[in-house]
Amino acid sequence: MTTDITIIGAGLGGLTLARVLHVHGIPATVYEAEPSPDARSQGGMLDIHDYNGQLALEAADLMDEFRAIILEGRQALRFLAPDGTVLFDKVDDGTGGRPEVQRGELRQILLDSLPAGTVRWGHKVSGTRTLGDGRHEVTFADGSTVTSSLLVGADGAWSRVRPLLSTAVPEYTGKSVVETYLFDADTRHPAAAKAVGGGSMIVHTPGRELFAHREKGDTLHAYVGLSEPRDWFDAIDFADAAVATARVAKEFDDWAPELTALITDCDTAPVLRALYALPTGHRWDRVPGVTLIGDAAHLSAPNGEGANLAMLDGAELGKALAAQPDDIEAALTAYEEAMFPRSAEAVMFEGAEAHGTDSDNDPIRALLTALTQKEQSH
Ligand SMILES: Cc1cc2nc3c(=O)[nH]c(=O)nc-3n(C[C@H](O)[C@H](O)[C@H](O)COP(=O)(O)OP(=O)(O)OC[C@H]3O[C@@H](n4cnc5c(N)ncnc54)[C@H](O)[C@@H]3O)c2cc1C
Repeated sequence: MTTDITIIGAGLGGLTLARVLHVHGIPATVYEAEPSPDARSQGGMLDIHDYNGQLALEAADLMDEFRAIILEGRQALRFLAPDGTVLFDKVDDGTGGRPEVQRGELRQILLDSLPAGTVRWGHKVSGTRTLGDGRHEVTFADGSTVTSSLLVGADGAWSRVRPLLSTAVPEYTGKSVVETYLFDADTRHPAAAKAVGGGSMIVHTPGRELFAHREKGDTLHAYVGLSEPRDWFDAIDFADAAVATARVAKEFDDWAPELTALITDCDTAPVLRALYALPTGHRWDRVPGVTLIGDAAHLSAPNGEGANLAMLDGAELGKALAAQPDDIEAALTAYEEAMFPRSAEAVMFEGAEAHGTDSDNDPIRALLTALTQKEQSH
């Protein structure tokens, strides 16, 4: 292939694409806004599914490296009631198809698998424009530019490449999460550690949710979900950690103390993450020389699939380009026609499948269905 491939964004999607292209002997350049690989913590644990994320790692020839970073026992799952009663408890017997890894370690595997210089750090894209004949110009924040005959937007929720293909912009979902971390939980926060157990723990009520999991070591990482409009959160001063913690905890003051400890005993300042989504089924007409993968293409409210889908998009696009190196447009068409329904379907599965169920008889599905129906009846 003689086409110069330009990927914007060194998240899991963009790096998987670069790696799968490399496996097929196709060079690419990844431009990333962050100044270095360790410019920011990459966030918490991800479960990598055998039906999407792991398929991408197979295509990237990185399964051995992936297996080496799996956190044993973390597929345990429990549901609790707000009063702390355990409603459902499933141990990790080692047979599950969704092993958990630290996101930062997974990203490092991908970075280590690329030729030196593939990722150009500190290149924040400020704009893109069409030059015709399938070529595009990318402008960076420092005013420099590159032109590309195949441009791939892997630059996440607020993609600067997306406007070349679509006028869609993410909209607020009506829900945000507040992230908290509790370190050395078994010794310093034993009641919360016991409530969370060995893997993930979910408490779900209408408009208020707690999702927590045990990360590497005995760190507890919690997402406190609140269904409130943006201005409700804007009224809270998140720059003042104590004030923000107290305000969020107030919403859970009738919950069991071992659960509210996941908010009040936070060892880091609580971080607000407003959740945005593109319209379900977002798609575009083919535009020569440019496409999108991952959140740039199909940002949705977190449902446990986003990173997995981003990786699969990267792998599938890489394979499509390798299969048709002399017909880029045919490769992009094949990739997009499979990606559009795949990502729309994943949003539909939000809920039961997102929490590890694959059978109509699965007790988790039954519980989630019951909880969802309860929510709808309120
Ligand atoms: C609270 C929360 C929890 C989640 N939990 C899970 C989970 O458990 N499992 C799961 O599968 N998914 C989860 N997701 C979703 C997942 O994080 C995303 O779907 C996934 O990261 C998308 O990958 P991506 O490569 O498309 O984009 P990103 O990971 O967003 O990567 C985009 C990259 O592009 C770079 N970039 C952005 N703008 C520019 C620019 N202008 N110029 C250059 N570079 C740029 C960014 O710095 C970044 O490195 C969660 C999301 C949230 C918000």
